[in-house]
Amino acid sequence: MKNIDKFDFTNKKVITRVDFNVPLNDDFEITDDTRIRAAIPTIRKVLNSGGSVILMSHLGRPKNGPEHKFSLQHLVPELSKQLGVNVQFADDCIGDQAAEKAGNLKAGQVLLLENLRFYKEETKGDEEFAKKLASLADVYINDAFGTAHRAHASTAIIAKFFPENKMFGYVMNNELININKVVKEGKKPVTAILGGAKVSGKIEIINNLIDKVDNLLIGGGMMFTFIVALGGEVGNSLVEDDLIETAKEAMKKAEENNVCFHIPTDAVIADKFDNDANQKFCNSHEIPKGWMGLDIGPETGQVFRDIIESSETILWNGPMGVFEMDNFAQGTIEVAHAIADATKNGAFSLIGGGDSVAAINKFKLQDDVSYVSTGGGAMLEFIEGKTLPGVAAIEE
Ligand code: AMP
Repeated sequence: MKNIDKFDFTNKKVITRVDFNVPLNDDFEITDDTRIRAAIPTIRKVLNSGGSVILMSHLGRPKNGPEHKFSLQHLVPELSKQLGVNVQFADDCIGDQAAEKAGNLKAGQVLLLENLRFYKEETKGDEEFAKKLASLADVYINDAFGTAHRAHASTAIIAKFFPENKMFGYVMNNELININKVVKEGKKPVTAILGGAKVSGKIEIINNLIDKVDNLLIGGGMMFTFIVALGGEVGNSLVEDDLIETAKEAMKKAEENNVCFHIPTDAVIADKFDNDANQKFCNSHEIPKGWMGLDIGPETGQVFRDIIESSETILWNGPMGVFEMDNFAQGTIEVAHAIADATKNGAFSLIGGGDSVAAINKFKLQDDVSYVSTGGGAMLEFIEGKTLPGVAAIEE
């Protein structure tokens, strides 16, 4: 594995897997350019060091071959603007035109290939397809952390054609460094705050974190499965009956590992799943029939705040309640502000996983935490302790 900062890119053609899966409106305009902005430093690094860049990505979920709405051509103007370079485009990611355009690339130039997922070979991890992509370049960079948990042709398989010349880009490097700051090198006390709808999506993370953290704070819909496991009454709250035993085991494992496992003591309950429902505070273990818990209560919010503020390392994944509805957002707001305050006082905080990222952005606190992961599924699998094919392919 090579280091992007030490590699000599002079006259090298560098095929770079980026995550350009950006949202487009009906006029094919980019509505959120975060992913494009994230990829710029790696591209600039290669260009400034005398190389040329061949960019490849997926966009959306095309079903059967090319579809205009999923064409990466829509990104060319914005990408050219952000790079200050006239980005060329190949309307097929493999084949004669791509080979000719890649062959003619001069140092400092950029070629964007058409959507990789117009070929089903991409997601199947087809080796012949990966070989055709590899034939366009001398060097391979993977900078698409968001797809690192997939063994696709462009994210993992292609690496074998560059045994000497493969490396991570800056997005990948940053993600791995920052996630490892929590998972491998977390300064104590380490606190993980897990919320969101269901235990089923989070149980592997809980199990993997139990021997790494000092505090586990549970919120969101999944707290009710734990409360039922403890013998509480939760009314109509979200419960996964088939995971009650699993919840019991997780709490037992936490106790054996001296991890403080915090289940909320109070909740905001509502008589229907609606922002305008009748609502009140209630002991979270005594929710009346006909009512459901949609947020953590103020007592829990204060306990969580105190723990977060006395932590050195904080991981947050998943909202504390139905934060999309203003009347059930308070617990999530409280946690987000407590994390921002702890960060101001020197703690390291990592926010990851779709809805907590959406929440931190909604409350405009994204610049007040240490790191916001762009990884989604990849980040969750990494925290679960799984090997990411996109990472392993570069490291091996
Ligand atoms: P996840 O994708 O598993 O992180 O779940 C995020 C979703 O969980 C958000 O859309 C929240 O609205 C939802 N959620 C959080 N708390 C609750 C709750 N108490 N009851 C039902 N849904 C919840």
